[in-house]
Amino acid sequence: METCHNCGLPEDCISTTGRKVVLHFRPQPGEKFKRERRQSTWCHSDECAIQALAVAQYGAASHKWPLTLAEFRSTDPLAANEKRPSRYSLEYKQGKMLRAGKAKIRLDHQIPASQMIDSIGQKQQ
Ligand SMILES: [Zn+2]
Repeated sequence: METCHNCGLPEDCISTTGRKVVLHFRPQPGEKFKRERRQSTWCHSDECAIQALAVAQYGAASHKWPLTLAEFRSTDPLAANEKRPSRYSLEYKQGKMLRAGKAKIRLDHQIPASQMIDSIGQKQQ
């Protein structure tokens, strides 16, 4: 189970799938021994993801940021962070829904090919 990178909320506590983000940590001035690094992480909401992205980019001391959180949010950082959204996020959502019991695979309303051919044949008679 994952917990939100920003606020620590466990994955189980929310009804949505949350959001995967890739944080790009940049060393702040004075942090000589830190290197740039990327970390893939999970946040429980878009707002937490935006905050986590901002902290990674500008450091934990928000009063030193070159822009406000509102300004950062308005740059749509989540859209820029979106990578390989299609396949991974769909699988993630489906897996989460199945685990939560919200979705069941229903095969019973799929008509077998043989029955379809039968019904076509009956109409023609
Ligand atoms: Zn959160």
